[in-house]
This record gives sequence, C-alpha cells and structure tokens, in this order.
Amino acid sequence: MPPVGRFAPSPTGPLHAGSLVAALASWLDVRAQGPRARWLVRIEDADTERCLPGMGERILRQLADCALIPDEEPVWQTARTARYEAALARLRERGLAYPCGCSRKDIDEALARLGRQHERHGERVYPGTCRDGLRGKPARAWRFATQKFEAAAPGELHWTDRRLGAQGQDVAREVGDFVLRRADGPWAYQLAVVVDDADQGVSDVVRGEDLADNTARQILLQRALGLPTPRYLHTPLVRGADGHKLSKQNGAAAFDTATPEAARAALEAAARVLGLGPAAGASCAEALAGWVPAWRALYNSRPQ
Ligand code: GLU
Repeated sequence: MPPVGRFAPSPTGPLHAGSLVAALASWLDVRAQGPRARWLVRIEDADTERCLPGMGERILRQLADCALIPDEEPVWQTARTARYEAALARLRERGLAYPCGCSRKDIDEALARLGRQHERHGERVYPGTCRDGLRGKPARAWRFATQKFEAAAPGELHWTDRRLGAQGQDVAREVGDFVLRRADGPWAYQLAVVVDDADQGVSDVVRGEDLADNTARQILLQRALGLPTPRYLHTPLVRGADGHKLSKQNGAAAFDTATPEAARAALEAAARVLGLGPAAGASCAEALAGWVPAWRALYNSRPQ
C-alpha cells in the first residue's frame, strides 16, 4: 500500500497561519515518502451547523494558491454519511454504542451528585447515566461504550507521536463514553475521522497539536471497528499576540494569497514554525520542493 497523508480542514472559516502549518506539514510528510505517496484533502463538513457556505471551496483555493494540490478529488464528509451509519451499526451490533437521553443539564447534575469535575478541555466527562438504558427518556445522542470496550484492557492506552514522543491516556477515566452522533443528526468528529481515514487508506495523520488529545479516542474506535491505526504526528501551534493559539473561534484572519509572493511568504512563515529554514526559489512550488529533504531529515519519514 502506498503511504497516504491527508489534510482535513473543517469549513468553519478560512485557513489561517496556524492551519497552513498543518496543511504544509501533511503535504511535506507525503512528498518526503517518495513518488508513490499520495496527499489527500478532506473537507470535514460533517458538523453541518458550524460550516459556512462556500468555505470548503475557499479553502481549496487558498491551498491551490500555495501550490498545495491534492492528488485526488477532495472528499466531502457530507457525501459519506452512509459509511458513518454502517460504522455505528457495527458498533451497536457489538454492544459498543448505546443511546443516551441526557441533556447537558442532566449530565451536570449527575456529575454534581457524584462530586466529580464537570469539564475537561471544555467537555463533560459523561457519568454513564444511560449506559444501562434510557429509562423512558428520548435518545439525544449515541455514545461509545468506552468502559465496556476497555474492560479487557483497562488503564492507559499508549502510543507514540512522531513529534511529541510517548503518549498515554486512560480514555474511560479521562474522557468517558464519548459521543458518536448527536441527537440533532450531525456525526461526531471522532467517528467520521476514523471511518474516513480508514476508507482513504491514510497511513500518516499529520495535524495540529490542538487535536492531539483526540488520538486515544480515535485509536479505541479503530480497534472497536477492526480498522488499522495510522502513524500520528502533531505539529506545533501558532499563537496570536495574546498568547492563545490562532483559531477560527478567536477570529484568526485568512493568510494573504493576493499575490504569488504573499502566498510564498505565508508558506515560509509556516515552514519556520516547523523548524524548516528559508527555501530557495521564487515560486511556492519551488519552495515546497526545497523543504522536502529538510522535512525528511527532521521528522524521519520512511523513504519508499
Ligand atoms: N477537521 C479538523 C479541524 O479542522 C481536523 C481533523 C483532523 O485532522 O483529524 O480541526
């Protein structure tokens, strides 16, 4: 199987200097693995409520302005819901997904009764209220039965990140039974990303460090669905003047691609974040080609 990498932006806003780092890193990682390797772009529009009309197309134009051209037609998650349905059905058959009728308020109250912390990274650690049935409540979400799945091998899950090194997380304790699909229809990122990466044959996930915390959940889902686990590399984050990471949520501006020089300068800034020096060549394509050997030396990609 050829190495496959991907860039998977959510069309909730234009790409900014931070997301360009992830795009560039995933592209370089593929090119560093030889001519058979393929770079894919997936528009992650599964969470339809947060997506903005026309934003997927704008992101693809921003990438093209930087000579970051996918090797295949981009995939859109909204075209793939049948695959997510099938994965959820498989988990249900195995008793690893269950419906949950709890509102946020129900979860907060249950956590308060248990004297447990409410939040972790802005998410509630689900106390397992509906694990044994809805007790007449209407279903609001489908959850992964983390504790049940981990019963055979409780404790920390371990993996190695190509940049961050040895990682571990006890998903049952730190995250709990996480959501696979929300009541209002949208598929959760965790399920969609695992199904998509497997269907697209992704061997290398290279993305921003803000997503590193999701990796253990994704590895669990891969195991529960009998799917392979790719290698992971999480890239450094770009911080704004206020010290917070640049994000669409805090209104990070699109990088400038008004001229080829501006696009090349944006790439150069992204390369610097990755520890790559200035590249020769006036065009984006030349600069990109120049960074490939440096990436290979830094991140030790396997040449094919
Ligand atoms: N769609 C996610 C985002 O834009 C990235 C998903 C991933 O790379 O796994 O934050």
